[in-house]
Amino acid sequence: QTLGDFFATMAGRQPTREALVSRHQGLRYTYAELHQAARQLASALLGLGLDKGDRVGIWSHNNAEWVLMQLATAQVGLILVNINPAYRTVEVEYALNKVDCKALVTMPSFKTSDYLGMLRELAPELSLCRPGLLAAKRLPTLRTVVWIDVAGLGEEQPGMLRFSALMARGNAGDARIDAIGAALKNTDPINIQFTSGTTGFPKGATLTHRNILNNGFFIGECMKLTPADRLCIPVPLYHCFGMVLGNLACITHGSTIVYPSDGFDPLLVLETVQAERCTGLHGVPTMFIAELDHPRFAEFDLSSLRTGIMAGSPCPIEVMKRVQADMHMSEVTIAYGMTETSPVSCQSDADTPLAKRVSTVGRVQSHLEVKIVDPETGAVVPRGERGELCTKGYSVMHGYWGDEAKTREAIDEGGWMHTGDLATMDAEGYVNIVGRIKDMVIRGGENLYPREIEEFLYRHPQVQDVQVVGVPDEKYGEELCAWIIAKPGTRPTEDDIRAFCKGQIAHYKVPRYIRFVTGFPMTVTGKIQKFKIRDTMKDELG
Ligand code: ATP
Ligand code: MG
Repeated sequence: QTLGDFFATMAGRQPTREALVSRHQGLRYTYAELHQAARQLASALLGLGLDKGDRVGIWSHNNAEWVLMQLATAQVGLILVNINPAYRTVEVEYALNKVDCKALVTMPSFKTSDYLGMLRELAPELSLCRPGLLAAKRLPTLRTVVWIDVAGLGEEQPGMLRFSALMARGNAGDARIDAIGAALKNTDPINIQFTSGTTGFPKGATLTHRNILNNGFFIGECMKLTPADRLCIPVPLYHCFGMVLGNLACITHGSTIVYPSDGFDPLLVLETVQAERCTGLHGVPTMFIAELDHPRFAEFDLSSLRTGIMAGSPCPIEVMKRVQADMHMSEVTIAYGMTETSPVSCQSDADTPLAKRVSTVGRVQSHLEVKIVDPETGAVVPRGERGELCTKGYSVMHGYWGDEAKTREAIDEGGWMHTGDLATMDAEGYVNIVGRIKDMVIRGGENLYPREIEEFLYRHPQVQDVQVVGVPDEKYGEELCAWIIAKPGTRPTEDDIRAFCKGQIAHYKVPRYIRFVTGFPMTVTGKIQKFKIRDTMKDELG
């Protein structure tokens, strides 16, 4: 089945159930309405001269137009290209050209992001264009730019095809949609998603209907989603967390998608959960921390919550406990995955014993295989030992778009995706992510795992958050460095931290460098970019 088939079936089965609530836009769609709107948009996209296999970019924050584009492109075999709304001129130029996008849907501006200005810089011809005529030097394949209607945009400007105007050209009864849909295979590409760029430059992973539709379904199974569930999705849609763990987990279970806001705002999340009686809430650990620590947290009734997923980066045990106790998410699950594997490979569920749920990422998901190997020899390591996690099965991406060499490096001949993550597996199959191979620190021949030291320092009463990295050192090869954010109102010193470590962890695990900071370099998904911490320290230490 393709996403289009699946969605049509779901809309037929429960036409009047709410499919989507976009709070910040004041929009609500039932399944039947969303289905009709997606067909109308698909018809309009065909009217732009787009053909099966063409790439269409979306460069926007979370909104109804985003999910409409996801559903519309899937019905007529177009490949949706997710573009990070935090990208700036050179990055969007790279992304659009990397995959030869023919059309782009975006907003004129958003808060401090001037998308129109950036596109005018790349395509001065933009002001003269009509759909189908743009052929800018720096964006040679782009033909059409569609602007999501924003209140206060003013008069229609030349070259600005508005989303609403595009919609108006479409016809939900267009027979071409059914003809193209009938010929689509579930192994056809549906999506190109860029990785987060946590370890370097983002890579474009090509994913198929089979990849992400199945993954969305099994994610929803682990959460025990039903049509009665309403999932609050503050995580970005351009990332697999929003579009697969959020949108697709809901759609495959007939649940309701709820967007609290366009950019992340902890207060709007709390308000939305209460007002919409949400039963689920997604987030990366930093989002949950921001919600829990919000000064008005106690004012909100979050008792409707039951489930949700915490994922994307290591989930501190203390945060998990607070999410379960203070946010009522007794069935919260942890998921582990990566863009290249659709994304989820391992996930816990409500039946996972509590101790395992807070300390592991669960077990391998249904119909997938994982193994942990010695990165040097490729041999499977004994249970309990560290090694590189590898994933195999329906979820492994088609490949990196236009990059055969990188694809072959990542996926071996046996079909195993090498994740670059270090993990252990216990006797019962529970997997623990212990770090990234790239983050492992080798100090004087000793392998050190920053995650382990972070978990320890996190227990210090004045430490709010901590990141540990390796920095180059002449004598030892590498030395440990800790960046610490102190709890509000506290001022711990280096000596306090060292005294806390003394006698508790081996002397060589005590960070040589300790810095107090107010924040960490982050991707817009809220992932901490350790390579930037390392770069800053390299500059500082010369
Ligand atoms: P890039 O590949 O561009 O450097 P990235 O790997 O962060 O960025 P994603 O595909 O968004 O891009 O994230 C996948 C990675 O996130 C995994 O490889 C893993 O390192 C980390 N991760 C995901 N879930 C978890 C989790 N539950 N616990 C620990 N780490 C996780
Ligand atoms: Mg990665």
